[in-house]
Amino acid sequence: MSAEHQGRSKTGAVPTAPCPHCGGAAERSTDNPWRPFCSRRCKLIDLGDWLAEKHVIGDEDGSHPSGGQDDWQH
Ligand SMILES: [Zn+2]
Repeated sequence: MSAEHQGRSKTGAVPTAPCPHCGGAAERSTDNPWRPFCSRRCKLIDLGDWLAEKHVIGDEDGSHPSGGQDDWQH
């Protein structure tokens, strides 16, 4: 018998793919609930963008949405 440990290998165990949102490594295993994204944040952000974009269409009232403290409008 060999004395080598047959535990979890540290190298190349989990296949990864580029995250559609940030391009980072996203685990492609059932261990990753955020597939195909790398994290919960990316999944939520991407979904949020999609919903926001869809929501904007048909709402060309020109009025500001809630919150006027953002200074992104120069
Ligand atoms: Zn990501």
